Amino acid sequence: MPDRRPERQAAARAAVAAHGVDALLVTHLPNVRYLTGFTGTAALLLLTRDRAVLVSDFRYESQAAQEVGTSAGVEIDRHSAWDRLARVMSAAGVGSVGVEAAVLTLHDAERLAGIPRLRVVPTDGLIERLRASKTPEEVAAIQAAARLAQEALAAVLPGIRVGHSELEIAARLEEALRRRGSEWHPFQTIVASGPRSALPHARTTTRAVAQGEWLLLDFGAQVDGYCADLTRTVLVGARADARQRAVYDTVRAAQSRALAGVQAGMSGREADALARDLIAARGFGDAFGHSLGHGLGLEVHEAPRLSATAGDPLPPHAVVTIEPGIYLPGWGGVRLEDDVYLGPDGPVCLSDNRTELVELMRE
Ligand code: ZN
Ligand code: ZN
Repeated sequence: MPDRRPERQAAARAAVAAHGVDALLVTHLPNVRYLTGFTGTAALLLLTRDRAVLVSDFRYESQAAQEVGTSAGVEIDRHSAWDRLARVMSAAGVGSVGVEAAVLTLHDAERLAGIPRLRVVPTDGLIERLRASKTPEEVAAIQAAARLAQEALAAVLPGIRVGHSELEIAARLEEALRRRGSEWHPFQTIVASGPRSALPHARTTTRAVAQGEWLLLDFGAQVDGYCADLTRTVLVGARADARQRAVYDTVRAAQSRALAGVQAGMSGREADALARDLIAARGFGDAFGHSLGHGLGLEVHEAPRLSATAGDPLPPHAVVTIEPGIYLPGWGGVRLEDDVYLGPDGPVCLSDNRTELVELMRE
């Protein structure tokens, strides 16, 4: 597998130079991982014009050296990583440093402000913008995570019965994910039954699913740090009634339309409209209150956004979710989510998009 870190750091340096600062302090851990390969939880990465230095603490002494390799110098400080960083900056003659304004805490900003003769400049999304376009290896990792998630779901669905609690179903699904090699659950698994499926971001509870109810499962998997994000909504213990079928078919048609039509270069708003216009035309416009999707990568929610307020063009080689939903309070909701790569020849669905309505009947 090619080592992408030198080219990533070169691209980051170009973005930093365009900002007119001597260096960038990277504190957002997924960005640190992207630039150096370091997966630990304590890292200050300083990227100057000609050097990269990662400051960490005793817990990561051997891990940092191993993971970072030659992509950055590693400095371990047993007392204060911030004091060490200040010394590194002074030795490198850094007079101005960009910081990741969305991530740096006020507390840490005050520490930086205490360093004499250092100009601190807020930056926004410099590394995140680079991360939005994926390399083939990154796309393959997301696809592997999606495959694993699908297999876990396929293993768990046939065992679901009327009377199982949301937590019981989540436990089975999370076990199946881990057994198949998911490094972690990139977000809290959502299992929502009956009327609770109308809560787009439901908390998984002890509620038991009853006959004829929706069961919405929104879950992820992670491979080599890269996340997949899937949602399926199934009917438990009965055939769908006419209204359930109408809502389901509308979400499915909207998702299909967006999966076929989304492409790099269109704005996030245009992508969002592919699904939203269809849902609105069928009279459910008010019931689709969230955005169509989001970027996927080292984080489960990253650039770009596919929403009615996103005017920027979708970057080439991005991987995004397509997840329309219809939520009717008190009745329930349906959401379908797949992961798609915006390739040069059009969209390529990385997950199986098996969205035909599943009615779970006891054999
Ligand atoms: Zn999801
Ligand atoms: Zn999602």
